[in-house]
Amino acid sequence: MSDTIFTKIINKEIPADILYEDDMALAFKDINPQAPVHFLVIPKKAIATINDITADDREVVGHLSVVAAKVASDLGVAEQGFRTVMNCNEFGGQTVYHIHLHVLAGKPLGWPPY
Ligand code: 5GP
Repeated sequence: MSDTIFTKIINKEIPADILYEDDMALAFKDINPQAPVHFLVIPKKAIATINDITADDREVVGHLSVVAAKVASDLGVAEQGFRTVMNCNEFGGQTVYHIHLHVLAGKPLGWPPY
């Protein structure tokens, strides 16, 4: 797959407000927040969509939720609660084709989300 803006963020070629980083994942604030707290958790491995996840990716994809909960806790929003969303393809509203977990928090969130 071709590089996305998120590869540039991983490689520190463009700036981002990074909240957490380890060898598998990166968490940073969304540039266009949809809630008082809105950050993204991405794997360092470039996987375009949920449809492209393979069995070999189980550890890294599971790790995204571990990082989401850790960063939510660090930001003090874990107990109140938060929402994770991973959009897939056009109808799912995906715009960046490098999988990412949105983490939204800081206010009561409506459901359904449309
Ligand atoms: P998607 O629409 O693919 O589910 O989510 C992509 C998200 O990436 C959007 O919420 C958008 O605001 C965010 N985004 C796009 N470009 C950048 C960027 O350069 N920096 C940051 N921090 N977020 C970005």
